[in-house]
This record gives sequence, structure tokens and C-alpha cells, in this order.
Amino acid sequence: MEKFLEIQSSCPICHSRDLTTNLELRYWRENVLHFSDCAQCRATFANPMPSDELISQGNTALVRYYQKDKDFTQEFREARQAYLKGKILARRLRRWKKKGKFLEIGCYQGFFALGVKDHCDWEVETLEIAAPLAQFIRGSLGIPCHQGTLETVPLEKKYDFVACYDLIEHINRPRDFLVNLAKILNEGGRVEILTPNTIQDFAFNRRAYAAGWPPTIVLNHIMNFSPQALELALKQVGLKIHRWHCFGVRHVLKDFGFFGMGKPTPVKNNPSMQEFMVLPENSLLEQWTPQKIQELRTHPKVSWGYALLKEILPKLFRLRVPARLGIGHEIYCLAEK
Ligand SMILES: [Zn+2]
Repeated sequence: MEKFLEIQSSCPICHSRDLTTNLELRYWRENVLHFSDCAQCRATFANPMPSDELISQGNTALVRYYQKDKDFTQEFREARQAYLKGKILARRLRRWKKKGKFLEIGCYQGFFALGVKDHCDWEVETLEIAAPLAQFIRGSLGIPCHQGTLETVPLEKKYDFVACYDLIEHINRPRDFLVNLAKILNEGGRVEILTPNTIQDFAFNRRAYAAGWPPTIVLNHIMNFSPQALELALKQVGLKIHRWHCFGVRHVLKDFGFFGMGKPTPVKNNPSMQEFMVLPENSLLEQWTPQKIQELRTHPKVSWGYALLKEILPKLFRLRVPARLGIGHEIYCLAEK
């Protein structure tokens, strides 16, 4: 198995050759990832990027790692939360356009997409890399699901709204992804993106590495955008930002190590990819009977009252940092073609 793609001498976002490679992290215990920082757009990316095979093995291990001690009660709760968020997005979509085509890229089990589908007249489709999930989404949720990645699956339709949540930081060929993203959008179509802001998100990793204790990551955050890198990446493929900000400043002092906070410590018991890959599959998918799915749809905690209290109001009062300031753990961005 080829573990890595070719080493890059220029930034995949802005093409600058002004790169410094002075950060190393472990991707699970077994793999060392070197990261390059672009002085121009401030993106941080694995260089060389891990190959599709390595990412796919890492994802298998990750699913086992998360499911190890998970039971169906917790699974149900997470699905319910995703469904409620989908319901809230459906309301926004309805207000924007009565009908349209919606695509969620990297949709996990599809409950967010189900929430959208159940609450508006939009056509809902999904794109998911994992075959068992794609099968579940089609079979049990009745939502069309393309299996693969945006870089590999030729999608014939064009969409009016594409959801990309916690996705673009995992992409090993960002340019192909972005070109295809622009291609599948209708004129005036929108893409909504959530991704970590590398300036704050990687601040701890940098300090820990400098202190001699490189952290181990189990999530393959390999293409890390700064706000300006994201803006440029979208602009290059003909998308313009409609609305954006950063959020998540709660841990800002700890992340940047102000006042000696968030001091790096030696890493203990970092998990091994091989160990988790061979764990038996704890398949909670099978427990989603039609009754359980119906129970989810009518649960009191997917009601509008609950949505207002737990999702809509807290988001309204969330501190939104102007994207250009750079701080804030996450970037929110709505862009338009
Ligand atoms: Zn760059």
C-alpha cells in the first residue's frame, strides 16, 4: 500500500512556494505526518498528503474507536440531534426557495438529510464515502445516496444548496474537490461550509510539537484552512462569500497558551490504528428498525419548542468573530456561485 501521495513544493490553495515544514503529528500511533505552513494564505496541510488507502484504513479504525463503548441510546440521541438540525435548515431553505435540489457531502448516517427531507419540498440527496452507510441511507431512510467522494463520483445533477460540514479539512486533493464543488452548483446556488480555523485549531499542536511532545490525532485533519485560505480557495473556483465568521472562542487562551494555560504534556497511550481496525464491528445500524426511525421523527426533542430553546436561541447569541481576525476555533461560511 502506498501510504502517501507526492510531496508538494507549493501550496495547494494559493500556489505559493513560501512553505515551511516544521510540524510533525502522529496520525494514529503508526504514521508520522509532516505539515507545511503556507506563509501566504496561512493554510496548514499534510505534506505529503496521506493516500486514499491510508485515510480509508484510518476511517475504519476511527469508526471502531468511536463505537467501542457506544450503545443504541447514545446512537439514538446523536441521530435525533442531527435530525433536528436538518429540520432547522429545512426552514431556512423553505424561506429562501420553495423548491430546489439539496446535497449533503459526507453525510454519515443521513439523519441530518432526513430532517431536511421531512420538512421541506426540496429534493434531497447525499454523498457518502462508506459503503455500509450509503446502503443504509438508501435502504432504510429512502434518500438517494451516491457512494464515493466528490473527487471520484461523477454527479450529473446540479444543486441549489450543498452542505459541507466538517469535511473539507479531511480532503487530500483539495483542488479537485473545489473544482468539482463549483461544477455541481447551479448559478446562484450556495454551499455552506463548517471547518476548523487552523490558526486557532492547530495552535496547541504547534506548541506541543515545539515542546517535544507531538500529539497523536485520530481524525485526519490534513487540509487545514485559515479564513483567508478558504476565501481564496472559493474565489479561485468562482464562488463568492455571502456570509462568514469564526466562532468558538471559549478555549482561546488555552489553545494559544496565554498566561501559561494549556501547557503541553507528554502523550500517553496513543491509540494504534492496527489495534482498532481489527476490533469487531459494533454495528448499531442494524438496530434502526422502521419503528425506531418513526420514533425519532416524532420524538418530543425534535419539536420546534425544543429547537428554539436548544439550537436557535443559543446560536443567535453565539459570539461571531469577524473572519479576518483569525481567532475562533471554527469557520462558518456561506458562499454563492
Ligand atoms: Zn497558500
